[in-house]
Amino acid sequence: MNDTHDEFADWDAAYVLGALSTADRAAYEQHLNGCPECAQAVRGLAVIPGLLGKVPPEDVPGEAVDPLPADLLARTRQAAQGEVTQLRRRHRRLVSLVAVAASVVLLIGGLGVGAVLWSQRDTAPGVAVVMHQVEANPLRASIHLQDRAWGTEIEMKCTYTSSAGWGGREVYALYVVDDAGRATSVSTWAAAPGSTSELTAATAVPRAQIAHLQVRTAAGKILLTANPD
Ligand SMILES: [Zn+2]
Repeated sequence: MNDTHDEFADWDAAYVLGALSTADRAAYEQHLNGCPECAQAVRGLAVIPGLLGKVPPEDVPGEAVDPLPADLLARTRQAAQGEVTQLRRRHRRLVSLVAVAASVVLLIGGLGVGAVLWSQRDTAPGVAVVMHQVEANPLRASIHLQDRAWGTEIEMKCTYTSSAGWGGREVYALYVVDDAGRATSVSTWAAAPGSTSELTAATAVPRAQIAHLQVRTAAGKILLTANPD
């Protein structure tokens, strides 16, 4: 850290991706010589051009094998947004940083992370539902319902606690019962005492038309139920 650090602290990604102007690049490199903190940041990001160029990891030399920082996208977007407020004075850097942000989004999207981030931003948070026991049994389950254009996505976490009188590996099924009383099995799974099952299921029934969610035994006995509305 030195007394010009605040000015340069968010330039690391732009530098590594080659998005700085010649003058900015020279100024940043001069700062790097005296700032271990920025030098460390650049080393941490140095793997990016290799990834963008789809160079195999073993071809990226030396210290450039650190994992991609988890907050890189957020920091880069933040840096670009910060520049928007200074648009009149620093137009050229804005263009550079937006290009960097776009590159990073493409990069992370290519790694399968960006798509998740963006899809989460575009969807409603969904509804959490706790299932209730119809009679005492060792299953506990919570459900998350997400509206989709095609129906409802169902995420379920089901824990099978050890319990006297129960035991062994059994098959269970998750049923969706719609407002008309039609019951459809949307998922089956096998569970044993002490296990936790996490599964994702889907139904064409819109969330508003789901009357009940039920966990049943293979023999059809209803163990857990929930009324999402
Ligand atoms: Zn610095």
